[in-house]
Amino acid sequence: MNDWNTRTKLVHGGTRRSQYNEVSEAIFLTQGFVYESAEQAEARFIEAGPDEFIYARYGNPTVAMFEERIALLEGAEDAFATASGMAAVNGALTSMLKAGDHVVSAKALFGSCLYILEDILTRYGVEVTFVDGTDLDAWRAAVRPGTKAVFFESMSNPTLEVIDVAGVAEIAHGVGAKVVVDNVFSTPVFSNAIAQGADAVIYSATKHIDGQGRTLGGVILGTKEFIRKTVEPYMKHTGGSMSPFNAWVLLKGLETIDLRVRAQAASAQAIAEALEGHAALQRVLYPGLNAHAQNALVQTQLGGKGGTVLSLDIKGGQAAAFRFLNALNVAVISNNLGDAKSIATHPATTTHQRLSDDQKDELGITPGLVRFSVGLEDTDDLIGDVMQALAAAQG
Ligand SMILES: *Cc1c(COP(=O)(O)O)cnc(C)c1O
Repeated sequence: MNDWNTRTKLVHGGTRRSQYNEVSEAIFLTQGFVYESAEQAEARFIEAGPDEFIYARYGNPTVAMFEERIALLEGAEDAFATASGMAAVNGALTSMLKAGDHVVSAKALFGSCLYILEDILTRYGVEVTFVDGTDLDAWRAAVRPGTKAVFFESMSNPTLEVIDVAGVAEIAHGVGAKVVVDNVFSTPVFSNAIAQGADAVIYSATKHIDGQGRTLGGVILGTKEFIRKTVEPYMKHTGGSMSPFNAWVLLKGLETIDLRVRAQAASAQAIAEALEGHAALQRVLYPGLNAHAQNALVQTQLGGKGGTVLSLDIKGGQAAAFRFLNALNVAVISNNLGDAKSIATHPATTTHQRLSDDQKDELGITPGLVRFSVGLEDTDDLIGDVMQALAAAQG
């Protein structure tokens, strides 16, 4: 399976068939598994083999298929599936850290990630230093012997800064720190973070992996040693495992993710190009534009693909941004991303509402900023929709 090209891996990778030889993967909606004997039960609790399951919180055949398929896509040795993206972020960090450890994190983070680093880890005696993630000198100055991990979103939400995975990994590994990357915006289709030096990669499967707005899910990818010795004991005893039904939905999502994400990114590129220089906009943020501050890095790190999300800074502040959102006819107002349906979000009043005005300023989350997740609708329909809504925004 490791020799297959990506699309073949996504359709067939990890498949386990039952005695019925079903074509579509089976959903094993079971909490437990029957043992042939008391001796077999005892043996399985000592060590479970690859096709031996104990309890759904520990593992499940449908969940195992999902883990194997996403690990093949990412080029990781192993994976642990979680109930949501946040269970993955929390599990990857909390399972490896203890009081007295030091962590360096980029400051441009999704609100819930910031809560884990700023409020939860520090409550248990972990020291966290925040840096401008795009500045390698800042990472160099912040790490020290005793830095246990570095954490960042490889493409930040919602301002779409791109962080140099290989550059940060070299600095982190120099002091023996593990590199934990939240890779949602880079997507598993365009990212190659493990090959570029990440030790652990996290996805919210809720986003592009589902891609059709149905279930929550997450995954932590890394070496067999890290996943089975560090992550699994923490996850299986604290209860953040993925449900078998959700794993089945996400397996089906993986079958089409390459086609969907490539189409969405091509549309996002076309929309960003159509909007560049528009009189109603302060700026268009899209990593695939030549004008983007880290476009050179997008070429080397992401094969030139800017992802499926763009952000528009609309002139006239919050009132204009709200007029824009309320005028959209194709895109919907919501807060997910990576969906087949285009979704527009006003971060300052929703996903990033919790931040102080100073924090929003520092991160570039202005009152006029709208995050636009590009779906699978016709590109021209989307450009037409955004153009008429921008006209409405000007009031
Ligand atoms: C959505 C998201 C998460 C959290 O994922 P959930 O599945 O909603 O828990 C974490 N990081 C980033 C960058 C996200 O966009």
